[in-house]
Amino acid sequence: MKKLIKGLREFKSSYFSTHEELFEQLSHGQKPRVLFITCSDSRIDPNLITQAGLGELFVIRNAGNIIPPFGATNGGEGATIEYAVQALDIQQIIVCGHSHCGAMKGLMKLDSLRIEMPLVHDWLKYAEATRRLVKDNYSDYEGEDLLEIIIAENVLTQIENLRTYPVIHSKLHQGQITIYAWIYQIETGEVLAYDPQKHAYVLPLHQLPPSEIDETLSSRAFTRNGEKPFTKTEQQAFQSFHKPAISTDTGFPMTVLSPEQMERIYRGSTTK
Ligand SMILES: [Zn+2]
Repeated sequence: MKKLIKGLREFKSSYFSTHEELFEQLSHGQKPRVLFITCSDSRIDPNLITQAGLGELFVIRNAGNIIPPFGATNGGEGATIEYAVQALDIQQIIVCGHSHCGAMKGLMKLDSLRIEMPLVHDWLKYAEATRRLVKDNYSDYEGEDLLEIIIAENVLTQIENLRTYPVIHSKLHQGQITIYAWIYQIETGEVLAYDPQKHAYVLPLHQLPPSEIDETLSSRAFTRNGEKPFTKTEQQAFQSFHKPAISTDTGFPMTVLSPEQMERIYRGSTTK
């Protein structure tokens, strides 16, 4: 705690005093351009990893970067999403999972959680579609490999949940919202973004020198533990669930669910 108090003093005397104009401007209102949804994990800092400034990111954080579907709760997530899109006119949303996610580990051992952490157990029901999909379709994987798949699939599950909000559904229909699926790799500091056309998480192109782009997209997509690439079989296993996108913008993967996936949400079916 002493460290934090000291930090408060330092902030006021150094950062604040050299950015007074910015704080004066921000005191009149905010105009963030991005809604950033991520885990509460202390190892992620949205502003730090994106190098965004104060006032640029509107943030929702909770265990597991989970978005309960519309109508499922009266929690803060729905209200914050609605405010972001309607009041602040935010048009870009990032759902960002991360490597070594404790909440996703919990999803792998729900039975013991029920007794030890009943509230976490209940919260994870909003990731039940992730658990079920992975259980039924990735039975050959275990341990760290399985956790990587769960983390990757859960970001896509939560984007499907996000789309159930009327305000999101409507803006998507008007082409006024873009949703991105990201995974932050704690060990490398890299962010992988889901590219529906490649059916994989890849490094956003603008992060790479041009010479590495081709090689990276073909071999480093969706790296395991940020070191070695997924084997071809693992990559194919992951890719086989995700159908081609409608479109992507240049240089940056954009998550646009296929008509089949959109159908799936509203029919409530887990079939592909
Ligand atoms: Zn986490």
